[in-house]
Amino acid sequence: MTNKMFDTLRNIIQDVNEASELEQALNIVVHRTRQVMHADAVSVYFLDDKNDQLVLMASDGYNQKAVGKIKFNLNQGLVGLVFNQTEPVNIKNAHTHPNYHFVTETDEISFHGFLGVPIIQHRRALGVLVVRQTQHRRFSANDETFLVTLAAQLAGAISHAKKAGELTKSLEDVNDSSFIMTGLCGSPGIAIGEALVVFPPASLSAVPDNHISDDEVNEQINAFNDAINNVEHEFKELSQHMAGTLSNEELGLFDAFCLMLRSDTLVDNVIDRIKSGQWAQGALRETIDEHVKQFNSMEDSYLRERAADIKDLGRRILMHLQKQQTSRQEVTGPVVLIGEEVSVSQFSEVPLQHLAAIISSKGSASSHVAILSHALGIPSVMGVDNFPVSRIKGQKLVVDGYSGQIYVKPKQAIIDEFNQLINKEKTLNAELKALINKPSETKDGVHIPLYVNTGLLQDVSPSLKSGAEGVGLYRTEIPFLMRDGFPGEDEQAKTYQQVLKSFSPRPVTFRTLDIGGDKALPYFPVVEANPFLGWRGIRIMLDHPEIFLTQIRAILKSNIYNNNLRLMLPMISDVSEVDESLKLIQKAHQELITEGIDVPYPIIGIMIEVPSAIYQMDALAKRVDFFSIGSNDLTQYLLAVDRNNKQVASLYNCLHPSVLNSINYIITIAHKYNKPVSLCGEMAGDPASALLLVGMGIDSLSMSAGSLLKVKWAIRSFTKKKTEELVARTLTMESASSIRSLIKHELNQAELDNPISIDN
Ligand code: PEP
Ligand code: MG
Repeated sequence: MTNKMFDTLRNIIQDVNEASELEQALNIVVHRTRQVMHADAVSVYFLDDKNDQLVLMASDGYNQKAVGKIKFNLNQGLVGLVFNQTEPVNIKNAHTHPNYHFVTETDEISFHGFLGVPIIQHRRALGVLVVRQTQHRRFSANDETFLVTLAAQLAGAISHAKKAGELTKSLEDVNDSSFIMTGLCGSPGIAIGEALVVFPPASLSAVPDNHISDDEVNEQINAFNDAINNVEHEFKELSQHMAGTLSNEELGLFDAFCLMLRSDTLVDNVIDRIKSGQWAQGALRETIDEHVKQFNSMEDSYLRERAADIKDLGRRILMHLQKQQTSRQEVTGPVVLIGEEVSVSQFSEVPLQHLAAIISSKGSASSHVAILSHALGIPSVMGVDNFPVSRIKGQKLVVDGYSGQIYVKPKQAIIDEFNQLINKEKTLNAELKALINKPSETKDGVHIPLYVNTGLLQDVSPSLKSGAEGVGLYRTEIPFLMRDGFPGEDEQAKTYQQVLKSFSPRPVTFRTLDIGGDKALPYFPVVEANPFLGWRGIRIMLDHPEIFLTQIRAILKSNIYNNNLRLMLPMISDVSEVDESLKLIQKAHQELITEGIDVPYPIIGIMIEVPSAIYQMDALAKRVDFFSIGSNDLTQYLLAVDRNNKQVASLYNCLHPSVLNSINYIITIAHKYNKPVSLCGEMAGDPASALLLVGMGIDSLSMSAGSLLKVKWAIRSFTKKKTEELVARTLTMESASSIRSLIKHELNQAELDNPISIDN
């Protein structure tokens, strides 16, 4: 492809991405493609999957009346051929091809050259992009590459615009009726509550489109004007405050900012956009983006740098707009927290007793927000695209964490149906409660202690009530995430001591700070291209011994009264990390002894969650007291599937034969050295997986409190021998789905003998 074609391609994609409606996006595609390829007609066909037809959706060069009218059956014509073959078709004279199908509406007789490429997303053909020429023309290899690349990139943009457009349209059509949004299951459960929308503060790029009605226009304009006044006031105050410190020239910058703030181009553009139906935040984002683009394209480097000032100004205005918004939010009843990327710290915005469910447009079931919501027994749905914020804000929602569906403004019949399900769940939970005081042992009497994963003080009481035999994973980073600075040694020790005391004499495993990845501390920003492969967990701690030592001292000190502590290190990928950590732990211990605080030396274990650690199990086993398998990360790293990326969520599967075989190997080697192994990833809370782990000889399992009784029921329904047989059969199987069906079948059988309706 020539450079010019490449630039054009980029520009087309950019414009398509910015289009808010499907029709607009498609018109850009056909028009610009026709220009760049010097073609006589360009058209896009989409699959209408209800009628199994390919429908002409947009065209430049055909008679416009044909749009929406021309429809091919899937095996009809050259368009059908491209669609079925999922390959480009390039023909000098279409009329001579056996698949040629004549249609009158397009003035077909006058076109000869034909190049068609499929539009494919996630392995599925969505439609066909066709370029035509009146003369005989075989399009060049360059043309073909261009069109294939364009179609590949368009698939995402088109399905985005299609969804957004369809959603808005369906909402407008049936103004007061309900609609459904779908995402990925985050944490199971059903909840009904009012939507509370949160955004990352002052992030312009995170501001979604939001179409407002005519009666909201004035309110939004006023909000914008208030925000401008506030920013101006802020600048004036800053300027006065800095008067003695900055030079006059530097102080002049504040005046320049105020001028920019009041400039007609900024103010009028935003207000015009609001008047045309965009809310103030979206209008601001679009206007700032436009200005930034203009500045960025300037030759003069001084002017180019002004783009950063404009962005900064935009963020400040946005901050004030959002302040007005948040101050209006008051939580009284059950709410569904909903946002682009609901962060762990945003949990604290809503009192826990009012938090009914969580919806996040990013992430998947193994994201930390999902795990935390699971720990708290709060249903969550992740990876929900394109939700129309204004239509959802304040609306009643039914959130189904099992299926990942969300019902917005549900009809009474839906509410009744879900209320019934909620009641059924309550009954099931009540039945399961009968197991609380029963031992977690197999039918032939093998005891498998079940522990809980926690990290919040609020979580302690449900954990205790679940009948857990201790805490298998206390994620110490969670309290760190909820604050705006590192807690000191005494403050940490106080929290840890409360946890140890609540569970005493049961053991509590504190995992040292595991930040990085998707757990960024707001006050310790780490910006990386690949955070999950970057500065994370023990790597940060060893680079910052002052933070690590403070935490270790706090943990050791907290153990003085109850002596039920176990210490665990996350993200170990190399033996040297264990050696260095042990040195620091010994140092902290020695210091405390020297200070006269007679703390016991702790039992120390490590997490096996990075593949390299699996092949150093022998060396590691000689150094530590126990292992805990972090199956969430182990699955992500073994399968090379980002646990947060919904695009690849269907590939993330802890029953993948490689994951199961690795776990089996870890357990075997640990036992060779008589070291106990637990598993504390989400997998432990899945009854089917838990049975396999028992069969492999796992010594204990640690999971969200909400899963504990279901897992206990599964363990109590099988003999150890039976689980071993299942392992022997599954370890040679080739796919996760066949493994799951096998165990599901066994669980269904067990349910007949030992009835409790488990949804697995
Ligand atoms: C894991 O990776 O399985 C684990 C338990 O740790 P986290 O989910 O906190 O990364
Ligand atoms: Mg982990």
